[in-house]
Amino acid sequence: MRDVVTAYIGIGANLGDAAAQVRAALQWLDELPQTRRIAASGLWRSAPVDADGPHYCNAVAAVSTRLSAPALLQALHALEARAGRERPYRNAPRTLDLDLLLYGSARIQSPRLIVPHPRMEQRAFVLMPLAQIAPERVTISALQAVAGQDVEPMAPPV
Ligand code: AMP
Repeated sequence: MRDVVTAYIGIGANLGDAAAQVRAALQWLDELPQTRRIAASGLWRSAPVDADGPHYCNAVAAVSTRLSAPALLQALHALEARAGRERPYRNAPRTLDLDLLLYGSARIQSPRLIVPHPRMEQRAFVLMPLAQIAPERVTISALQAVAGQDVEPMAPPV
């Protein structure tokens, strides 16, 4: 049987009741096969980056999983579909966006999956919630580099 791996998932939503959608996604992660949610950050509010529409609600969750990284990504896509996400154009507003940020210490470069997520280091809305639940996975210099971004806490971790 495959080993258990700790993976970190970035969650974002900016349509409808975005906070409720993020909370629902946190619950859904706990229901994935061979997967258990082990931590959740608070909710954060961020201005859209390279995207349209209202502010985002963001969070990061840690899961303990026996799924492979591609199987986990596929499961995340299924949850996005469950939230009714449509992709009319690149970076369109979305009901739910799930990114596989980290998968243990794996480095993956395939056409469909890059881990660590290639843009996580530039995004305060990823690094701030990630630092709440896994400070050892975020460097001070990375946090300093994104300190000017428009991101604020919305709700504490539950
Ligand atoms: P987006 O529309 O921004 O959610 O981008 C999703 C696309 O990025 C999908 O086609 C994925 O296959 C690809 N992708 C590559 N690496 C990752 C990752 N670490 N997490 C999520 N999606 C990824």
